[in-house]
Amino acid sequence: MNDQKDNASLVKELMFQLTVTKAMLKTVELDQILYIILSGITHGDGLNFNRAVLFLAWDRRNELRVSRSAGPANGEEAHRIWESITAEKLNLQNLIDRYTQTPDELQYLTSRLLSFSLKLDEARPMESLEGMHYELRDVISHCVATKQPFLINGVEAVYHDVASSDLLTFKNFACVPIILNNEVLGIILTDNYFNSRIINREELRGLSLVANLASIALERALLYRRLTEMAQVDGLTGVFNRHYYERHLHDEFIRSRRLNRSLCMIVFDIDLFKRFNDTFGHECGDRVLKEFAQILKTNTRVEDMVARYGGEEFVVLLTGEHTPEDALATGEKLRRIIATSAFSGFEAGQITASAGVSFVRPEEDFAQLFTRADQALYDAKRAGRNCVRLYSNA
Ligand code: GH3
Ligand code: MG
Ligand code: MG
Repeated sequence: MNDQKDNASLVKELMFQLTVTKAMLKTVELDQILYIILSGITHGDGLNFNRAVLFLAWDRRNELRVSRSAGPANGEEAHRIWESITAEKLNLQNLIDRYTQTPDELQYLTSRLLSFSLKLDEARPMESLEGMHYELRDVISHCVATKQPFLINGVEAVYHDVASSDLLTFKNFACVPIILNNEVLGIILTDNYFNSRIINREELRGLSLVANLASIALERALLYRRLTEMAQVDGLTGVFNRHYYERHLHDEFIRSRRLNRSLCMIVFDIDLFKRFNDTFGHECGDRVLKEFAQILKTNTRVEDMVARYGGEEFVVLLTGEHTPEDALATGEKLRRIIATSAFSGFEAGQITASAGVSFVRPEEDFAQLFTRADQALYDAKRAGRNCVRLYSNA
């Protein structure tokens, strides 16, 4: 009898592992991987926890922040979800297949934990796991520092959001690190807040297994993201490359057409750069190109796009509401910053650039955008360089 029961639970566990592993290896999209992990942890076919939160140090390498979570806001919602899952006979596989890229709203726990952050190198172990009360920060910090999974039943861990003076409580919780190359990449925090079910060692083992699978899937996603970034970025200057710029331009044009807006562009070309290279050497020229790109990047808005079009030519695509005159003013501002910047090893004014500014109206052909900017640039060069010209069809 016992053997039969053991076999049944072993089969269930294997099915669970298989479902989660297969799903995770099908995708390289980070958010989808997180969704699968959380589904496995909270679904009844999986580990059956009431709630789960994933903290990741993904974008901000050294800083752990909430990435995704699963779990209802209160007991009533918990009950409702549980009933609908039963009524729909929604198994783990179906739940995983329900992933959508843009959830209607931020998950409840995620929204309550947005202000949480922990620097990985500041993590410290707690003195004891026998306390009567915990701060969430200490719990997560302990898990990062020890790199070990642990569980605490019967007592609460709380998170105080200083800004909103909000209080969030976890009860009967477990914490497991996601480790990659011996470094903590993230933390899984899970609890049984609604039914107060005691967590046992077996379940902690199950969680560790999910964390191991997660680290494999996350490593693939990380690698994939790096590769895509590499394919988009110019190796020398670190700004977007021409290939990516062209794709982005197309998307931007469709967007501006929908919004019935003009699209503006500035093309920069460094003045007499050939002579510069001949005088100071190609390596020195490369250094100037890097600094030049950085100046454009730091002096434009995040939503604007800076790309290296080729050689010593850069484009700045202005998104948002702009008149051609606004774009001209931006071009002029950037030109002045360049002309007054001391590039390393040179004095201010030794490196200058000319620029052409152009625009296309929503009803026009967007391929004209670059052609026009190039024409305006030619005018600027003819006018004596270190100046900006706006395209005019007159
Ligand atoms: P103008 O003011 O008319 O633009 O003069 P210019 O000398 O800059 O003319 P042009 O645009 O024809 O020359 C561009 C030069 O930029 C040619 C090449 O020596 C240099 N260049 C292009 N790509 C690179 C690069 O990756 N590194 C370095 N160091 N120089 C480059
Ligand atoms: Mg050129
Ligand atoms: Mg040039």
